[in-house]
Amino acid sequence: MNAEIVAVGSELLTPQRMDTNSLWLTEQLNMLGVEVTLKCVVGDDRPRLTAAISAALARTPIVIVTGGLGPTEDDVTRDAVAASLGRPLVFSQEIADGIAERFRKFGRKMAEINLRQAYLVDGGEALDNPNGTAPGQWIEDAGRMVMLLPGPPKELKPMFAEHCLPRLQQKLPPQFIRTRFYRVAMMGESDLDALIAPAYTKYENPVTTVLAAPGDVQVHLRARCATAEEAEALCDELGSQVEALLGDRIYSTDGAKLEEAVGRLLRAAGATVAVAESCTGGLLAHRLTAVSGSSDYVLGGFVTYTNAIKTQLLGIAPDLIRDNTAVSEPVAAAMAEAAQARTGATWAIGITGEAGPVSSTGAKVGTVMIGFAGPREVTAKTIHLFGDRERIRQMAAQSALEMLRRQLMPPL
Ligand code: AMP
Ligand code: MG
Repeated sequence: MNAEIVAVGSELLTPQRMDTNSLWLTEQLNMLGVEVTLKCVVGDDRPRLTAAISAALARTPIVIVTGGLGPTEDDVTRDAVAASLGRPLVFSQEIADGIAERFRKFGRKMAEINLRQAYLVDGGEALDNPNGTAPGQWIEDAGRMVMLLPGPPKELKPMFAEHCLPRLQQKLPPQFIRTRFYRVAMMGESDLDALIAPAYTKYENPVTTVLAAPGDVQVHLRARCATAEEAEALCDELGSQVEALLGDRIYSTDGAKLEEAVGRLLRAAGATVAVAESCTGGLLAHRLTAVSGSSDYVLGGFVTYTNAIKTQLLGIAPDLIRDNTAVSEPVAAAMAEAAQARTGATWAIGITGEAGPVSSTGAKVGTVMIGFAGPREVTAKTIHLFGDRERIRQMAAQSALEMLRRQLMPPL
Protein backbone atom coordinates (compact mmCIF):
# COMPACT_ATOMS: atom_id res chain seq x y z
CA MET A 1 0.00 0.00 0.00
CA ASN A 2 1.12 3.56 -0.62
CA ALA A 3 1.12 6.66 1.55
CA GLU A 4 1.50 10.40 1.12
CA ILE A 5 2.77 12.85 3.69
CA VAL A 6 1.73 16.50 3.84
CA ALA A 7 3.96 18.60 6.11
CA VAL A 8 2.22 21.78 7.18
CA GLY A 9 3.97 24.96 8.31
CA SER A 10 5.10 28.15 6.64
CA GLU A 11 8.37 27.94 8.59
CA LEU A 12 9.14 24.70 6.70
CA LEU A 13 9.23 26.72 3.51
CA THR A 14 12.07 28.90 4.81
CA PRO A 15 15.75 27.94 4.84
CA GLN A 16 15.64 27.97 8.64
CA ARG A 17 13.46 24.92 9.25
CA MET A 18 13.36 21.53 7.65
CA ASP A 19 10.64 18.93 7.47
CA THR A 20 12.25 16.06 9.34
CA ASN A 21 9.00 14.43 10.44
CA SER A 22 8.40 12.94 7.03
CA LEU A 23 11.81 11.24 7.04
CA TRP A 24 11.06 9.54 10.31
CA LEU A 25 7.52 8.66 9.25
CA THR A 26 8.79 7.22 5.98
CA GLU A 27 11.13 4.93 7.85
CA GLN A 28 8.26 3.75 10.06
CA LEU A 29 5.94 3.22 7.11
CA ASN A 30 8.57 1.35 5.12
CA MET A 31 8.96 -1.08 7.98
CA LEU A 32 5.25 -1.84 7.62
CA GLY A 33 5.70 -2.41 3.90
CA VAL A 34 4.11 0.93 3.06
CA GLU A 35 5.84 2.99 0.38
CA VAL A 36 5.74 6.79 0.51
CA THR A 37 4.95 7.80 -3.06
CA LEU A 38 4.66 11.55 -2.64
CA LYS A 39 5.23 14.14 0.02
CA CYS A 40 4.86 17.88 0.08
CA VAL A 41 5.34 20.90 2.30
CA VAL A 42 2.51 23.43 2.45
CA GLY A 43 2.46 26.75 4.26
CA ASP A 44 -0.21 27.74 6.77
CA ASP A 45 -2.78 28.58 4.16
CA ARG A 46 -6.30 27.12 4.24
CA PRO A 47 -7.09 26.96 0.49
CA ARG A 48 -3.66 25.68 -0.53
CA LEU A 49 -3.65 23.06 2.20
CA THR A 50 -7.19 21.95 1.36
CA ALA A 51 -6.16 21.54 -2.28
CA ALA A 52 -3.04 19.54 -1.32
CA ILE A 53 -4.95 17.22 1.01
CA SER A 54 -7.78 16.74 -1.51
CA ALA A 55 -5.26 15.78 -4.17
CA ALA A 56 -3.54 13.33 -1.83
CA LEU A 57 -6.86 11.75 -0.84
CA ALA A 58 -7.81 11.30 -4.49
CA ARG A 59 -4.58 9.41 -5.23
CA THR A 60 -3.47 7.55 -2.16
CA PRO A 61 -5.11 5.38 0.51
CA ILE A 62 -2.93 6.55 3.41
CA VAL A 63 -2.48 10.27 4.01
CA ILE A 64 -0.54 11.67 6.95
CA VAL A 65 -0.76 15.39 7.68
CA THR A 66 1.73 16.76 10.20
CA GLY A 67 1.68 20.15 11.92
CA GLY A 68 -0.80 22.98 11.98
CA LEU A 69 -2.76 21.54 14.93
CA GLY A 70 -1.96 24.42 17.29
CA PRO A 71 -4.52 26.83 18.70
CA THR A 72 -3.80 29.91 16.62
CA GLU A 73 -5.38 31.36 13.50
CA ASP A 74 -2.57 29.99 11.32
CA ASP A 75 -3.18 26.40 12.44
CA VAL A 76 -5.49 25.32 9.66
CA THR A 77 -4.94 21.57 9.37
CA ARG A 78 -8.20 20.56 11.06
CA ASP A 79 -10.21 22.91 8.83
CA ALA A 80 -8.48 21.79 5.67
CA VAL A 81 -8.89 18.07 6.36
CA ALA A 82 -12.56 18.53 7.24
CA ALA A 83 -13.13 20.50 4.03
CA SER A 84 -11.26 17.94 1.93
CA LEU A 85 -13.31 15.08 3.33
CA GLY A 86 -16.55 17.08 3.17
CA ARG A 87 -17.18 16.56 6.86
CA PRO A 88 -17.92 19.11 9.58
CA LEU A 89 -15.74 19.75 12.61
CA VAL A 90 -17.37 18.76 15.87
CA PHE A 91 -16.57 20.08 19.32
CA SER A 92 -15.46 17.47 21.84
CA GLN A 93 -16.10 18.40 25.47
CA GLU A 94 -13.84 15.54 26.51
CA ILE A 95 -10.87 16.94 24.63
CA ALA A 96 -11.65 20.46 25.91
CA ASP A 97 -11.66 19.15 29.48
CA GLY A 98 -8.37 17.35 28.86
CA ILE A 99 -6.71 20.52 27.58
CA ALA A 100 -8.10 22.55 30.51
CA GLU A 101 -6.78 19.91 32.90
CA ARG A 102 -3.33 20.05 31.30
CA PHE A 103 -3.22 23.84 31.81
CA ARG A 104 -4.31 23.45 35.43
CA LYS A 105 -1.61 20.87 36.04
CA PHE A 106 1.07 23.26 34.81
CA GLY A 107 -0.49 26.11 36.81
CA ARG A 108 -1.31 28.14 33.72
CA LYS A 109 -4.50 29.79 32.59
CA MET A 110 -6.00 28.39 29.43
CA ALA A 111 -6.71 30.95 26.74
CA GLU A 112 -10.02 30.74 24.95
CA ILE A 113 -8.32 29.98 21.64
CA ASN A 114 -7.01 26.68 22.99
CA LEU A 115 -10.53 25.35 22.59
CA ARG A 116 -9.91 25.32 18.85
CA GLN A 117 -7.85 22.22 19.52
CA ALA A 118 -10.94 20.47 20.88
CA TYR A 119 -12.50 20.12 17.43
CA LEU A 120 -12.46 16.75 15.69
CA VAL A 121 -13.19 16.01 12.09
CA ASP A 122 -16.61 14.35 12.30
CA GLY A 123 -16.15 10.59 12.69
CA GLY A 124 -12.47 10.94 13.61
CA GLU A 125 -10.84 9.49 16.69
CA ALA A 126 -8.76 11.70 18.94
CA LEU A 127 -5.21 10.49 19.55
CA ASP A 128 -3.94 11.30 22.99
CA ASN A 129 -0.95 13.65 23.19
CA PRO A 130 0.81 13.34 26.56
CA ASN A 131 3.58 15.67 25.35
CA GLY A 132 1.50 18.65 24.22
CA THR A 133 -1.98 20.09 24.05
CA ALA A 134 -2.92 19.28 20.46
CA PRO A 135 -4.48 15.83 20.15
CA GLY A 136 -3.90 13.98 16.91
CA GLN A 137 -6.68 12.46 14.84
CA TRP A 138 -7.26 9.15 13.08
CA ILE A 139 -9.93 9.22 10.41
CA GLU A 140 -11.14 6.42 8.17
CA ASP A 141 -12.97 7.32 5.03
CA ALA A 142 -14.09 4.90 2.32
CA GLY A 143 -11.14 2.55 2.88
CA ARG A 144 -8.69 5.41 3.25
CA MET A 145 -6.76 6.21 6.38
CA VAL A 146 -6.00 9.79 7.31
CA MET A 147 -3.80 10.78 10.21
CA LEU A 148 -3.38 14.25 11.68
CA LEU A 149 -0.26 14.50 13.80
CA PRO A 150 1.27 17.41 15.73
CA GLY A 151 4.32 19.16 14.25
CA PRO A 152 6.85 18.95 17.09
CA PRO A 153 8.80 15.72 16.59
CA LYS A 154 8.74 15.04 20.34
CA GLU A 155 4.94 14.90 20.14
CA LEU A 156 4.59 13.27 16.74
CA LYS A 157 6.87 10.28 17.26
CA PRO A 158 5.33 8.85 20.43
CA MET A 159 1.84 9.50 19.08
CA PHE A 160 2.52 7.68 15.85
CA ALA A 161 4.23 4.78 17.62
CA GLU A 162 1.52 4.36 20.21
CA HIS A 163 -1.65 5.04 18.25
CA CYS A 164 -1.04 4.88 14.51
CA LEU A 165 1.32 1.90 14.23
CA PRO A 166 -1.01 -0.60 15.89
CA ARG A 167 -3.99 0.65 13.85
CA LEU A 168 -2.02 0.45 10.62
CA GLN A 169 -0.73 -3.03 11.43
CA GLN A 170 -4.29 -4.17 11.96
CA LYS A 171 -5.54 -2.67 8.68
CA LEU A 172 -2.68 -3.58 6.37
CA PRO A 173 -2.27 -6.93 4.68
CA PRO A 174 0.77 -8.67 6.14
CA GLN A 175 3.90 -7.61 4.30
CA PHE A 176 7.43 -8.65 4.88
CA ILE A 177 10.44 -6.72 3.78
CA ARG A 178 13.85 -8.24 3.38
CA THR A 179 16.89 -6.34 2.19
CA ARG A 180 20.41 -6.81 0.92
CA PHE A 181 23.04 -4.12 1.10
CA TYR A 182 26.35 -3.87 -0.69
CA ARG A 183 29.05 -1.22 -0.60
CA VAL A 184 31.72 -0.76 -3.22
CA ALA A 185 34.60 1.72 -3.13
CA MET A 186 36.35 3.55 -5.94
CA MET A 187 34.11 2.38 -8.75
CA GLY A 188 32.12 4.90 -10.78
CA GLU A 189 28.37 4.82 -10.32
CA SER A 190 27.70 4.38 -14.03
CA ASP A 191 30.30 1.60 -14.38
CA LEU A 192 28.80 -0.21 -11.44
CA ASP A 193 25.29 0.26 -12.77
CA ALA A 194 26.25 -0.98 -16.22
CA LEU A 195 27.66 -4.10 -14.59
CA ILE A 196 24.67 -5.04 -12.45
CA ALA A 197 21.73 -3.53 -14.36
CA PRO A 198 21.34 -6.59 -16.63
CA ALA A 199 20.61 -8.59 -13.46
CA TYR A 200 18.44 -6.23 -11.45
CA THR A 201 16.32 -4.84 -14.27
CA LYS A 202 14.81 -8.31 -14.61
CA TYR A 203 13.18 -7.82 -11.21
CA GLU A 204 10.49 -5.40 -10.10
CA ASN A 205 10.63 -7.08 -6.71
CA PRO A 206 13.19 -6.69 -5.13
CA VAL A 207 13.48 -3.01 -5.88
CA THR A 208 17.11 -2.05 -6.50
CA THR A 209 18.51 1.34 -5.57
CA VAL A 210 22.02 2.52 -6.42
CA LEU A 211 23.23 5.39 -4.24
CA ALA A 212 26.50 7.09 -5.05
CA ALA A 213 28.81 9.28 -3.00
CA PRO A 214 32.35 10.25 -4.07
CA GLY A 215 34.36 7.04 -4.18
CA ASP A 216 31.60 5.01 -2.59
CA VAL A 217 28.54 3.37 -4.10
CA GLN A 218 25.81 1.58 -2.18
CA VAL A 219 23.47 -0.97 -3.70
CA HIS A 220 20.21 -1.69 -1.87
CA LEU A 221 17.85 -4.54 -2.70
CA ARG A 222 14.41 -4.49 -1.07
CA ALA A 223 11.93 -7.32 -1.48
CA ARG A 224 8.31 -6.98 -0.29
CA CYS A 225 6.27 -10.16 -0.08
CA ALA A 226 3.34 -11.68 1.77
CA THR A 227 5.69 -14.01 3.62
CA ALA A 228 9.16 -13.54 5.05
CA GLU A 229 10.35 -16.69 3.24
CA GLU A 230 9.35 -15.36 -0.17
CA ALA A 231 11.03 -12.02 0.50
CA GLU A 232 14.17 -13.76 1.70
CA ALA A 233 14.21 -16.05 -1.33
CA LEU A 234 13.86 -13.15 -3.76
CA CYS A 235 16.70 -11.30 -2.04
CA ASP A 236 18.84 -14.44 -2.24
CA GLU A 237 18.05 -14.91 -5.90
CA LEU A 238 18.95 -11.39 -7.03
CA GLY A 239 21.55 -10.90 -4.31
CA SER A 240 23.61 -13.88 -5.45
CA GLN A 241 23.68 -12.49 -8.99
CA VAL A 242 24.78 -9.05 -7.79
CA GLU A 243 27.42 -10.64 -5.59
CA ALA A 244 28.75 -12.71 -8.46
CA LEU A 245 28.96 -9.64 -10.71
CA LEU A 246 30.61 -7.35 -8.17
CA GLY A 247 32.79 -10.04 -6.63
CA ASP A 248 35.54 -8.80 -4.35
CA ARG A 249 34.70 -5.20 -5.16
CA ILE A 250 32.08 -5.55 -2.42
CA TYR A 251 33.70 -4.41 0.80
CA SER A 252 30.69 -4.57 3.07
CA THR A 253 27.29 -6.28 3.18
CA ASP A 254 26.20 -5.00 6.58
CA GLY A 255 26.59 -1.26 6.11
CA ALA A 256 30.10 -1.14 7.60
CA LYS A 257 32.21 1.73 6.30
CA LEU A 258 35.38 1.11 4.34
CA GLU A 259 37.60 1.90 7.33
CA GLU A 260 35.66 -0.65 9.38
CA ALA A 261 36.01 -3.28 6.66
CA VAL A 262 39.76 -2.63 6.55
CA GLY A 263 39.90 -2.78 10.34
CA ARG A 264 38.21 -6.18 10.38
CA LEU A 265 40.70 -7.54 7.86
CA LEU A 266 43.65 -6.16 9.82
CA ARG A 267 42.30 -7.64 13.02
CA ALA A 268 41.62 -11.00 11.38
CA ALA A 269 45.18 -11.08 10.04
CA GLY A 270 46.64 -10.00 13.38
CA ALA A 271 48.24 -7.16 11.45
CA THR A 272 48.86 -3.51 12.31
CA VAL A 273 48.96 -0.34 10.25
CA ALA A 274 50.71 3.03 10.31
CA VAL A 275 50.45 6.01 7.97
CA ALA A 276 52.60 8.84 6.65
CA GLU A 277 50.44 11.54 5.08
CA SER A 278 51.21 14.63 3.12
CA CYS A 279 48.33 15.88 0.96
CA THR A 280 45.64 14.21 3.12
CA GLY A 281 46.95 15.89 6.27
CA GLY A 282 45.86 13.14 8.63
CA LEU A 283 42.57 12.25 6.95
CA LEU A 284 43.56 8.63 6.59
CA ALA A 285 44.63 8.37 10.23
CA HIS A 286 41.39 10.10 11.18
CA ARG A 287 39.28 7.57 9.33
CA LEU A 288 41.19 4.55 10.53
CA THR A 289 40.95 5.70 14.13
CA ALA A 290 37.28 6.73 13.87
CA VAL A 291 36.46 3.03 14.29
CA SER A 292 36.04 2.02 17.91
CA GLY A 293 38.56 -0.58 18.95
CA SER A 294 40.98 0.53 16.25
CA SER A 295 43.79 0.79 18.80
CA ASP A 296 44.06 -2.98 18.32
CA TYR A 297 45.57 -2.46 14.89
CA VAL A 298 46.33 1.25 14.26
CA LEU A 299 49.77 2.09 15.61
CA GLY A 300 49.91 5.75 14.59
CA GLY A 301 51.21 7.99 11.90
CA PHE A 302 53.00 11.06 10.65
CA VAL A 303 51.65 14.19 9.00
CA THR A 304 54.62 15.33 6.99
CA TYR A 305 53.52 18.25 4.91
CA THR A 306 56.70 20.08 3.96
CA ASN A 307 59.78 18.56 2.39
CA ALA A 308 61.84 19.49 5.44
CA ILE A 309 59.48 17.65 7.78
CA LYS A 310 59.46 14.62 5.49
CA THR A 311 63.20 14.51 5.98
CA GLN A 312 63.17 15.40 9.66
CA LEU A 313 60.42 13.02 10.82
CA LEU A 314 60.71 10.22 8.30
CA GLY A 315 64.31 10.50 7.19
CA ILE A 316 63.37 10.89 3.52
CA ALA A 317 66.60 11.71 1.69
CA PRO A 318 66.58 15.32 0.39
CA ASP A 319 68.11 14.00 -2.83
CA LEU A 320 65.19 11.69 -3.40
CA ILE A 321 62.80 14.63 -3.13
CA ARG A 322 65.03 16.86 -5.26
CA ASP A 323 65.38 14.27 -8.02
CA ASN A 324 61.74 13.13 -8.14
CA THR A 325 59.79 16.01 -6.51
CA ALA A 326 57.75 15.40 -3.38
CA VAL A 327 54.79 14.22 -5.46
CA SER A 328 56.30 11.06 -6.85
CA GLU A 329 56.10 7.32 -6.44
CA PRO A 330 59.62 7.01 -4.97
CA VAL A 331 58.74 9.53 -2.24
CA ALA A 332 55.36 7.83 -1.52
CA ALA A 333 57.15 4.49 -1.25
CA ALA A 334 59.88 5.97 0.96
CA MET A 335 57.26 7.54 3.25
CA ALA A 336 55.51 4.18 3.63
CA GLU A 337 58.77 2.37 4.23
CA ALA A 338 59.89 4.91 6.83
CA ALA A 339 56.52 4.81 8.64
CA GLN A 340 56.79 1.02 8.75
CA ALA A 341 60.37 1.10 10.00
CA ARG A 342 59.65 3.74 12.66
CA THR A 343 56.49 2.07 14.04
CA GLY A 344 57.05 -1.61 13.40
CA ALA A 345 53.63 -1.86 11.73
CA THR A 346 52.84 -4.80 9.46
CA TRP A 347 51.54 -2.36 6.88
CA ALA A 348 52.33 1.27 6.31
CA ILE A 349 50.82 3.69 3.81
CA GLY A 350 52.46 6.82 2.43
CA ILE A 351 50.36 9.42 0.65
CA THR A 352 51.64 12.38 -1.30
CA GLY A 353 49.87 14.36 -3.99
CA GLU A 354 48.59 17.60 -5.39
CA ALA A 355 45.24 18.48 -3.79
CA GLY A 356 45.13 21.85 -5.55
CA PRO A 357 43.84 24.27 -6.46
CA VAL A 358 47.38 25.18 -7.51
CA SER A 359 50.20 22.74 -8.02
CA SER A 360 53.35 23.31 -5.96
CA THR A 361 55.49 20.68 -7.68
CA GLY A 362 54.38 20.91 -11.29
CA ALA A 363 52.41 17.67 -11.02
CA LYS A 364 48.86 17.97 -12.32
CA VAL A 365 46.31 18.79 -9.59
CA GLY A 366 44.63 15.54 -8.56
CA THR A 367 47.75 13.43 -9.06
CA VAL A 368 48.23 11.34 -5.93
CA MET A 369 50.84 8.69 -5.18
CA ILE A 370 50.11 6.01 -2.65
CA GLY A 371 52.93 3.89 -1.28
CA PHE A 372 52.54 0.62 0.60
CA ALA A 373 55.10 -1.05 2.76
CA GLY A 374 53.87 -4.55 3.48
CA PRO A 375 55.26 -7.71 4.93
CA ARG A 376 56.82 -8.70 1.61
CA GLU A 377 57.44 -5.65 -0.52
CA VAL A 378 57.25 -1.91 -0.93
CA THR A 379 55.12 -0.62 -3.82
CA ALA A 380 53.72 2.67 -5.01
CA LYS A 381 50.90 3.59 -7.35
CA THR A 382 49.83 6.80 -9.04
CA ILE A 383 46.15 7.69 -9.25
CA HIS A 384 44.47 10.60 -10.98
CA LEU A 385 41.59 12.28 -9.18
CA PHE A 386 39.47 15.24 -10.12
CA GLY A 387 37.37 17.78 -8.26
CA ASP A 388 38.06 20.43 -5.68
CA ARG A 389 40.65 20.23 -2.93
CA GLU A 390 38.24 18.69 -0.44
CA ARG A 391 37.13 16.01 -2.88
CA ILE A 392 40.67 15.14 -3.92
CA ARG A 393 41.75 14.75 -0.31
CA GLN A 394 38.74 12.59 0.54
CA MET A 395 39.20 10.44 -2.55
CA ALA A 396 42.90 10.01 -1.87
CA ALA A 397 42.15 8.65 1.61
CA GLN A 398 39.37 6.47 0.21
CA SER A 399 41.67 5.09 -2.51
CA ALA A 400 44.38 4.30 0.03
CA LEU A 401 41.91 2.41 2.21
CA GLU A 402 40.54 0.48 -0.75
CA MET A 403 44.04 -0.44 -1.95
CA LEU A 404 44.98 -1.61 1.52
CA ARG A 405 41.77 -3.66 1.68
CA ARG A 406 42.64 -5.40 -1.55
CA GLN A 407 46.11 -6.29 -0.31
CA LEU A 408 44.66 -7.64 2.92
CA MET A 409 42.00 -9.79 1.30
CA PRO A 410 42.71 -13.46 1.63
CA PRO A 411 43.34 -14.99 -1.82
CA LEU A 412 40.30 -16.88 -3.11
P1 AMP B 1 2.78 23.13 14.57
O1 AMP B 1 2.19 21.82 15.00
O2 AMP B 1 2.50 23.43 13.15
O3 AMP B 1 2.41 24.25 15.48
O4 AMP B 1 4.34 22.96 14.66
C1 AMP B 1 5.06 23.24 15.83
C2 AMP B 1 6.54 23.12 15.62
O5 AMP B 1 6.85 21.76 15.25
C3 AMP B 1 7.12 23.93 14.46
O6 AMP B 1 7.47 25.21 14.83
C4 AMP B 1 8.35 23.15 14.12
O7 AMP B 1 9.39 23.50 14.97
C5 AMP B 1 7.96 21.74 14.40
N1 AMP B 1 7.58 21.09 13.16
C6 AMP B 1 6.41 21.22 12.49
N2 AMP B 1 6.39 20.47 11.39
C7 AMP B 1 7.57 19.82 11.34
C8 AMP B 1 8.17 18.88 10.44
N3 AMP B 1 7.50 18.44 9.37
N4 AMP B 1 9.40 18.43 10.71
C9 AMP B 1 10.06 18.88 11.79
N5 AMP B 1 9.57 19.73 12.68
C10 AMP B 1 8.34 20.23 12.48
MG1 MG C 1 2.70 25.47 12.44
